[in-house]
Amino acid sequence: VTALDVAGIVLDVEGTTSSVAFVYEVLFPYARTHLASFLQRHWDDDEVARARNQMARDAGAASFAQWCVPCAPHEQQSFLQFEALQLMDCDAKITGLKELQGLIWRDGYAGGALRSHVYDDVPRALHRWHEQGLYVRIYSSGSVTAQKLFFAHTVHGDLSPYLCGHYDTTTGAKRDPASYARIAADMKLAPARLAFLSDVAEEVEAARIAGWQTLLVLRPGNLAVRPGHGHREIHDFDSVVSL
Ligand SMILES: [Mg+2]
Repeated sequence: VTALDVAGIVLDVEGTTSSVAFVYEVLFPYARTHLASFLQRHWDDDEVARARNQMARDAGAASFAQWCVPCAPHEQQSFLQFEALQLMDCDAKITGLKELQGLIWRDGYAGGALRSHVYDDVPRALHRWHEQGLYVRIYSSGSVTAQKLFFAHTVHGDLSPYLCGHYDTTTGAKRDPASYARIAADMKLAPARLAFLSDVAEEVEAARIAGWQTLLVLRPGNLAVRPGHGHREIHDFDSVVSL
């Protein structure tokens, strides 16, 4: 049993609430597999037009129309498809591509084809912490929009009612103690009344430096953690009790 005397708990996602493999084995392949059919169905949507113009700007062109100047109109979709696949091949973290992937995932979640992974102990813990009146929020490198989609469509159903806030890297880097100071200020809680749970030792260390309580999460499939980090370790959330 790991006791926490806190008013709020902030959770990392990949490797903490959810398997790292889900992102690489389900989410990214889904965007790739459904790219062509998604573009066919949604080519004229405003959001898709915005995403392809952003991809053109990411590539240094003024607009999609200019980027794709050599294409005949009927070739525009296959041009974008080819460019997007190239970027996916090198796992590019580029704004326009991320926008497009986000739209494909939203479509998949909405249609029920996509369900995000959370470990079985997560909904139990969220429910328990909620009953105890704790504030639970997410801090992940995935965008806030992506986080909300993720928790609204999990294998255990919609978990968003248990979450009262989300932070992404627009709040700051996860290895920077200043990010945790900002989150504590935003939650209007003293750092000592907050706990951060993550699978990455450098992230929980940054939270500790900011005065937070910390738990290092060891899930199956996570990278091995170097010993001597000095943080309490947990294998699931069932053992975490709030005082
Ligand atoms: Mg993580």
